[in-house]
Amino acid sequence: MADDLAWTAPPAGLLRPGPDFDLATFDRASTPGFDGGKADGKALTAERGLLMSELQERLFAEGRSGGERSVLLVLQGLDTAGKGGIVRHVMGMVDPQGIDLHSFGVPTEEEKRHNYLWRIRRALPRPGRIGVFDRSHYEDVLVARVDQLVEEEVWRRRYAEINRFERTVTSRGTTIVKVALMVSKQEQGLRLLERLDRPDKHWKYNPSDVATRKKWDDYQEAYSDVLARTNTDIAPWHVIPADKKWYARLAVTELVTQALIDLDPRWPRPRWRVATQVAALLRTMDPENVPTDDERSETVEDSLADEREFAEAVAGATPSAAPAPEKGSGGSEDARSDGKNDKKKDKKKDKKKDSKKKDKKKDGKKKGGKKSDKK
Ligand code: AMP
Ligand code: MG
Repeated sequence: MADDLAWTAPPAGLLRPGPDFDLATFDRASTPGFDGGKADGKALTAERGLLMSELQERLFAEGRSGGERSVLLVLQGLDTAGKGGIVRHVMGMVDPQGIDLHSFGVPTEEEKRHNYLWRIRRALPRPGRIGVFDRSHYEDVLVARVDQLVEEEVWRRRYAEINRFERTVTSRGTTIVKVALMVSKQEQGLRLLERLDRPDKHWKYNPSDVATRKKWDDYQEAYSDVLARTNTDIAPWHVIPADKKWYARLAVTELVTQALIDLDPRWPRPRWRVATQVAALLRTMDPENVPTDDERSETVEDSLADEREFAEAVAGATPSAAPAPEKGSGGSEDARSDGKNDKKKDKKKDKKKDSKKKDKKKDGKKKGGKKSDKK
């Protein structure tokens, strides 16, 4: 059971459609690369989410000090495929300051006056950010094709245009992670029915959803062509079975985490001297309020311990180029405990901070007051 808390193979390779890929026979209730059940999946999602969040902070810091790199998660899928759930449950695990989220609906009047890539370019992630597209330029070869919004020769040209566009985007430092969430027709029917049966879900329903559902086969064909024609090495597709929401979220978490691991973002070096700044700061502080040398070296040690755990999580957590570990062997075992330790460690740290603050208060030091007891 515990061994199910790991991928049996890296999903990036597993979910990429190969030359023989057939969307018609693709099992949308399957869980490729993961043998565990829902509880295991959720636990691993949370664990990898911690690492994703750590990596994202580094990427953000890099962007703040002149770095150009970013990640772009492109989410495609039919109604009810779970795009919103990915945004909420996966991207919700990282600091919202680091996310550039854009949802693309029916083009506005202004957008219609421009080329279809105009609104996409404007929405690309800023340096250091994780951009998220809830729908994207792919709608212009999906709904545009199925609903015949443009001539066939126009949408046919777009596959090559999109590939060129994505090449430019990646050459400027953006890693593109493309995800096609695939629900079965049966599951979509059930999810739409639930939206209708539950007043609290009515807001998610659009009467046009049934009209779109009736064009199911046309959409499958359009998706097949997208997957066949725009699955480039620089911006590969990942087709994710989406009947099990927990699996889709786990898989996207892993894909984004792995993209960040590959970027290997590092804390930027300051452009000022630490010692000079410490001296300057200390001159502005009431000496009684300055932590002791011991307390300060504890802070340094905490930080070094964090770095060590992070490095171990990155190294051990990758489901890796190597095959799945034998039962009881190292590898993912380490990754698993890292995540848990992170949480424990955070709690321990918070407690430590609290007790330090309380001590100071007892000592009759000013400031803090009731505030320091909270958190
Ligand atoms: P939703 O994601 O449920 O809010 O719906 C957004 C709607 O906008 C979907 O029906 C999409 O097909 C539609 N849409 C998105 N992009 C385009 C586009 N480029 N052209 C036409 N319709 C679009
Ligand atoms: Mg919708």
